[in-house]
Amino acid sequence: MNKDEMWVLNSESYKAPSSRFSSLLASKDRDFLLSPTENQVKVSDLDGKVVGIYFSANWYPPCRKFTPILAGVYEQLKGRGCGFEVVFVSSDEDCDAFASYRSSMPWLAIPFSDLESKKGLNRRFEIEDIPCLIILQPVSTDNEEDEILRDGVELIYRYGVRAFPFTKQRLEELEKEEREKHENQTITNLLTNHNRNFLLGHGHPVPKQVDVGSLVGKTVGLYFSAQWCLPCLKFTPKLISIYHKIKEMLVEEKENEDFEIVFVSSDSEQVGFDSYFGTMPWLALPFGDPTVRSLTKYFDVQRVPCLVILGPDGKTLTKQGRNLINLYQEKAYPFTKAQLEFLEKLKDEEAKGLPLSEYHAGHRHELTLVSEGTGGGPFICCECDEQGFGWAYQCIDCGYEVHTNCVKAVNRGSAG
Ligand SMILES: [Zn+2]
Ligand SMILES: [Zn+2]
Repeated sequence: MNKDEMWVLNSESYKAPSSRFSSLLASKDRDFLLSPTENQVKVSDLDGKVVGIYFSANWYPPCRKFTPILAGVYEQLKGRGCGFEVVFVSSDEDCDAFASYRSSMPWLAIPFSDLESKKGLNRRFEIEDIPCLIILQPVSTDNEEDEILRDGVELIYRYGVRAFPFTKQRLEELEKEEREKHENQTITNLLTNHNRNFLLGHGHPVPKQVDVGSLVGKTVGLYFSAQWCLPCLKFTPKLISIYHKIKEMLVEEKENEDFEIVFVSSDSEQVGFDSYFGTMPWLALPFGDPTVRSLTKYFDVQRVPCLVILGPDGKTLTKQGRNLINLYQEKAYPFTKAQLEFLEKLKDEEAKGLPLSEYHAGHRHELTLVSEGTGGGPFICCECDEQGFGWAYQCIDCGYEVHTNCVKAVNRGSAG
């Protein structure tokens, strides 16, 4: 037997050690992944680790926003010696884009040229939206739901390193902790931190400091907003006018109650913050304060503007403040369940008097009156661009929907 024959024999009898991830991450002619320094790392090296498969692309801002956050978590877990690895599956347009995006990633990647594998993974996990982080546990079980976690991005945003090892048990622990935190919530523990126990009020030449304690016992709105955000710029003046109306009403009718709003800014520059806060009649957390971040996480604020309302006991009444202001204006105060139920009934009563269909100046088709029960649901009003729910006028064919009080009726239906 010559040398070549022996090689053939050996290779035939050679049985690759079964790797948990090889069927997923290797291909028939590739058993490796690329390290950040372009070295080849065997797929079998991932055995025994928790693996995140990261679907992402440099051209998409939500991906670019998430990557550094994941990188921070990754480095911390590495530093602690936790068995965690991430594999990047690129949806970048070309090799250069891939390479430049890669340079911000401390983890492994499927080679850009391996289109088949990338496509296969997207299909396998039915990826519809990026960024997506699929987390796989090191040991396979019979129940796929136990070992495949699809909302890695959300979990990292929410819990950071604490989400590790992403098991069902760990997530239940975190949820329980979160619940307890919300149950013990007070205005003081929400708005202060170990360096600061005040909020900013307006004053010249420097903003005045207002003790957080002065908010205890008041109904408080936390207004998550930013100057760079158009819907915020549209909503803020409306909120200011409602704020004044509520304040006036309280002075006249309810002397023992008070209402305040605190601006929680996601502005990225002090100048933007200063000029924006300058337009607001209420208080603010200082620009760049760490509490901004923790509150955003704590209330799971996904987009601005968002208005979270706290009751006089400091507990959360609703995260739908913006919607409620749009729907009920100053009547939404004090945002309690009883008040909202009362307003809902009132709306239902009011709707009984509304025409079942209506022609609206902003749309060429006839609109139909709908409620939650009759095909209506949460919508964006095409007239005022604000969110709405409950009663609305709708053109189902065009997906056109407006608040009932945004309709400008025109008489287009009658002949002539
Ligand atoms: Zn509207
Ligand atoms: Zn239409």
